[in-house]
Amino acid sequence: MGKREINQALGFNSKILTSDKNHADIHGAMNAPIYRGAAFEFRDSKAIADAFQNKEEIPSHTYSRITNPTVEALENKIKAISGAKDVMMLSSGMAAISNTFMALSYAGSNIVTSPHLFGNTFAFFQYTLAEFGVEVRFVDTDNLQEIEAAIDDNTCAFFCEVMTNPHLEIADLVGIKAILTKHQVPLIVDSTVIPWGGFEAKKWGVDIEVVSTTKYVSGGATSIGGAILDYGAFDWAHNKRLQKVNNPAPFSAFMFKIKREIARNFGACMDPDSAYAQIMGLETLKLRYQAVSQSAFELAQFLETHSRIVKVAYPKLESFPYKALSEKFFIGNPGAMLTFNLSSKAECFQFLDALKLIRRATNLFDNRTLIIHPESTIYGTFTPEMKQVMGIDPTLIRLSVGLEEVEDLKADITQALSKL
Ligand SMILES: *Cc1c(COP(=O)(O)O)cnc(C)c1O
Repeated sequence: MGKREINQALGFNSKILTSDKNHADIHGAMNAPIYRGAAFEFRDSKAIADAFQNKEEIPSHTYSRITNPTVEALENKIKAISGAKDVMMLSSGMAAISNTFMALSYAGSNIVTSPHLFGNTFAFFQYTLAEFGVEVRFVDTDNLQEIEAAIDDNTCAFFCEVMTNPHLEIADLVGIKAILTKHQVPLIVDSTVIPWGGFEAKKWGVDIEVVSTTKYVSGGATSIGGAILDYGAFDWAHNKRLQKVNNPAPFSAFMFKIKREIARNFGACMDPDSAYAQIMGLETLKLRYQAVSQSAFELAQFLETHSRIVKVAYPKLESFPYKALSEKFFIGNPGAMLTFNLSSKAECFQFLDALKLIRRATNLFDNRTLIIHPESTIYGTFTPEMKQVMGIDPTLIRLSVGLEEVEDLKADITQALSKL
């Protein structure tokens, strides 16, 4: 696949639907063909030597762990809609996160972050990276002074989720970015809970964006995947490890390290079938997101009126403490995730068991509406002390709103609440 020009004047969907147009498939296929094979043949030994020595103007594919045409087609579409300088797809959201930190942290370095993180990200920082001499410094991301005080010469990144799960906290990225710029620390965000089109990472100075494409992008839990997006604005000469990368352009040292070394050596490549499923998902992302986030807002308002519900959290509700930040950073309704509290853990279990339409499952942003009790499941194996650090409340229920008609969802919730 050659280089293609993306018409930047086009809208979001038009970019997705035309970013493959300049690639002439020999059969004229419009959907990216699924290249399942592992290896690619070369015309002569000089050509294969050039490919291996990175001497080609347009890089060829050599082996599918390194690059693959179907995966590249997905990367190009994501590049077109996000404005990222470089994109790499990996096998999962956790692969995107772990490869990112395997590339930029080092023994003696530290990561400043919130303790309110996706469970495996928390465990990766707290347990896995710690064994390699990387320190995680948990801060209250609402407190800019605390963030600044935690930063030192060995801070390799500030990391946060654009909206935490299940707390739905939103960090002030503008205030944080100002501090990070002063100390030459990159801003790395996980924007899984608000897809492209709803959150513009580039506009807010994000240096690296990581996304679990398993969620909104896959188009209904069709496949697992993760993306790393590099916006190309951070000078990696400030990173004690990446400054050693032998790459003439300091702004691209991170992706160079990821693509030429880290991703290859860890081998968590995206498979082409998943890439195909996620290209299809991307084509309907905007429409699906509009529908589910509208239903989420309607359901949140509905839940607020119900007497058995102690508290509802959704960023667009008047009662929500991060409403102003949500309006600042997010376009349209702020996502399909909402939470609510009942009076006890026992009541939560009773309520979940009485649901008939809504599914008890752990995923987010499926086409189906999914419900879960986070404390006993996602955080079930953490110690009580860790649950406290992570702020996990046993009376909280998380709902990920799907594409069913909102009246049917309201009816299911009403009948289940009536059983309490
Ligand atoms: C699901 C999720 C991940 C991990 O993604 P996988 O694709 O399951 O590896 C990371 N961050 C957030 C916010 C998530 O919701």
